[in-house]
Amino acid sequence: MTVRTGAIYLVGAGPGDPKLITVRGREILESADAVVHDRLISQSLLELARADARIENVGKAPGRDGPSQDEINDLLVNLARNGYTVCRLKGGDPFVFGRGGEEVLAGRAAGVYVEVVPGVSSALAAPASAGVPVTHRGLSSSVTVVTGHEEPGARNGSVDWNGIAQVQGSIVIMMGVAHIDAIARALVVSGRSSDESVCVVERATCPNQRVIFGTLGTIGEVTQSSMIENPATIVIGVAVDALADRAEW
Ligand code: SAH
Repeated sequence: MTVRTGAIYLVGAGPGDPKLITVRGREILESADAVVHDRLISQSLLELARADARIENVGKAPGRDGPSQDEINDLLVNLARNGYTVCRLKGGDPFVFGRGGEEVLAGRAAGVYVEVVPGVSSALAAPASAGVPVTHRGLSSSVTVVTGHEEPGARNGSVDWNGIAQVQGSIVIMMGVAHIDAIARALVVSGRSSDESVCVVERATCPNQRVIFGTLGTIGEVTQSSMIENPATIVIGVAVDALADRAEW
């Protein structure tokens, strides 16, 4: 496998545990001339970069906006045009709520070689690391991954919570902690049972991972009283209980 110069590699860093990057991702990270990374990338991954690599943190920190997407696109393109091998290191998988598609389009529009290295998305790693199989024979035959970033019912909202409620299977919600109470209510109004199980996985695959359990009826309150913070992923469905022994996890 080769790593080209004057190219942009969108590399999925995995959900948090630095060991969950792929072999190909690590190869690119270790050889890159420049590493442009998001906020939630573990320090031990960044330490794999070459000592002389240019490291750019383009993440949004709490209370600090960080560069706009256009500025990030320009940075990637300019580095590649100047001959750098650019490792654009993104949390989870680059194409799951990561705006990776926009970065690919920007690179292509500039005539720069772009390659995507898939990553382990927290959409699947968070439930797995909490002992929740998102599909389970006889219990759940589908999984829907959706953003909880928008307030349910908000004008111009793009998520059809009623439609999602109708799909009988697990629901994985990312970026949803702030609106979990309203989302749970919207799902119940759309016909899901208020007794349906929910778990929230905070900092999945990291040493300080926390998992809390509740139901659609209680999860808003439990999340608040447990002071769950981002990053956290919400998993809804009967499969939450499939392996039952919560104490084990
Ligand atoms: N591209 C990323 C997702 C980016 S959106 C991926 O594939 O994982 C950011 C959201 O991802 C967070 O709001 C949270 O819902 C989820 N997330 C990211 N890292 C997480 C982690 N370690 N534990 C739980 N959820 C996580």
